[in-house]
Amino acid sequence: MRLSRYFIPTLREDPAEAEVISHKLLLRAGMIRRVASGIYTFLPLGLRVLRKVENIVREEMNRAGALEVLLPLVQPGELWQETGRWDKFGKELLRFKDRKEHDFCLGPTHEEVITDLVRGEVRSYRQLPLILYQIATKFRDEIRPRFGLMRGREFIMKDAYSFDADEKGLDKSYWLMYEAYERTFKRCGLKFRAVLADTGAIGGSESHEFMVLADTGEDVIATCPACGYAANLEMAEAKREFSYPDEPEKPLEKVATPEAKRVEEVTAFLGVPPEKLVKTLIYVVDGQPHAVLIRGDHELNEIKLRKALGAEELEMADPETVEKLTGAPVGFAGPVRISGVKIIADKAIWGLKNFIVGANEADAHYVNVNYPRDFEIEAFFDLRNVTEGDLCPKCGKPLELVRGIEVGHVFKLGTKYSEAMGATFLDAEGKERPFVMGCYGIGVSRTMAAAIEQNHDENGIIWPISIAPFQVILLTLNPKSTTLMEFSEKLYKELEAQGLEVLWDERDERPGVKFKDADLIGIPYQLVIGKTFEKEGKLEIKERATGEKRLLSEEEALNFLK
Ligand code: ATP
Ligand code: MG
Ligand code: MG
Ligand code: MG
Repeated sequence: MRLSRYFIPTLREDPAEAEVISHKLLLRAGMIRRVASGIYTFLPLGLRVLRKVENIVREEMNRAGALEVLLPLVQPGELWQETGRWDKFGKELLRFKDRKEHDFCLGPTHEEVITDLVRGEVRSYRQLPLILYQIATKFRDEIRPRFGLMRGREFIMKDAYSFDADEKGLDKSYWLMYEAYERTFKRCGLKFRAVLADTGAIGGSESHEFMVLADTGEDVIATCPACGYAANLEMAEAKREFSYPDEPEKPLEKVATPEAKRVEEVTAFLGVPPEKLVKTLIYVVDGQPHAVLIRGDHELNEIKLRKALGAEELEMADPETVEKLTGAPVGFAGPVRISGVKIIADKAIWGLKNFIVGANEADAHYVNVNYPRDFEIEAFFDLRNVTEGDLCPKCGKPLELVRGIEVGHVFKLGTKYSEAMGATFLDAEGKERPFVMGCYGIGVSRTMAAAIEQNHDENGIIWPISIAPFQVILLTLNPKSTTLMEFSEKLYKELEAQGLEVLWDERDERPGVKFKDADLIGIPYQLVIGKTFEKEGKLEIKERATGEKRLLSEEEALNFLK
């Protein structure tokens, strides 16, 4: 590509609208332009990077046996009504009506659409497992769109959905996707960590986020250098989003939950969303029973609990012990005041209306519990309050805190959507069963920004070679010289014949401008054809990442770049 014919409107100055480095550099390198808050146009150079990331994602999805589809951005409200998310999703879901007054929304995610597709087409366990994915535009009306491509309102996501006959199948699909994610981010040239993520809000059973490690990341990760344990501390914040502040308080009720044990079973039985369940766990510390109210079931709870309870080891009390100590069965703490039991609660219950309290025990649940109306709390703990040096819940060694950018997320959904939407298949015995599902997202445009957050210097971007818009930039310093131009053109063709993507800066610009632009847009290898070529017939190759320069003959240069 000849730069004089290309379109890279670079900027000298940092744009005032940009706070983080990736946003600044994407604008300055002429890769994106803002259209409205959180909405961007990709220019030719930026689009090349986006496509590179997309292709790596696509190749790894295909390798894992997932099948590409393309689902619509505009989705009918009815599908969202079926899962109850039309009312629950909040303002990130941009809703509107068409000319016939029918409800529609812009898809922030596609569980409803994909489950609708599969329930209509897949009948038998023989057709399973099935993993479908797409790479497409998502819209989320984020409350604070910011940082350019990192948190846009319109952005590009790869989302995949797995359908299996049972939990075992789901487990297999989940780890298949997990491994595909590891390969994807590795191929993108990124330093990343897979970390445990909260499942509380969606009620799934297992979840990991893929984090690109960068100081500017919005997420804080607790990691254990000793055993490799890693978890996101975000969840307390996430759960607060599900606080239903507008609901009126309802009267407290004790309900029998005969079959209900797991979170999903209890909440399905009661017909409420899983994020409303608050578990009661009873721990005995120094002979004294403590009831702990917790949302979600993250292992990191343990760190905070140990702190809150002042105990080094924590073991949940078995039901008999609890009954002996309190005279009441497990799960009954919380709304009923049991003498001598201290209640300690996760701060995330603040603002939560009409929640359920229980403890994985059949017949041990209260609904429409409200704090402070129904009980007193001795102390609160805050999940986000994990600090450097807190002890690892896996091995007991000190934790470190690092920052990360969530670029991917894998999630076991179970039967939440298939049950809500009546998506079933016939198993080997001819029995009708709901699909067991998983969902798997990668922020494709965010990955591009994260790559810059991790790879840049004061002069500009340093693209990892696998996602660089071009691998080589050829700088012809004096385009008025026919010798230089003729040689450059020959070399340009030879490099392309070698399968390299080459940007040729043959503009009539000062060398200083060319060097600056080349550094800014971050192409991994700069090939300079200037005075040294005229004098000694040699070119200079500069590696963008290290700044290392080599003087090479034409042949050596071609070999070096092979
Ligand atoms: P976040 O916690 O950053 O809001 P999320 O957990 O809401 O992200 P998911 O629903 O897990 O996002 O979506 C899958 C992936 O899509 C995320 O891992 C992220 O990489 C990307 N993504 C989510 N929201 C945005 C956004 N507003 N802009 C760009 N990418 C996004
Ligand atoms: Mg979000
Ligand atoms: Mg998240
Ligand atoms: Mg997520």
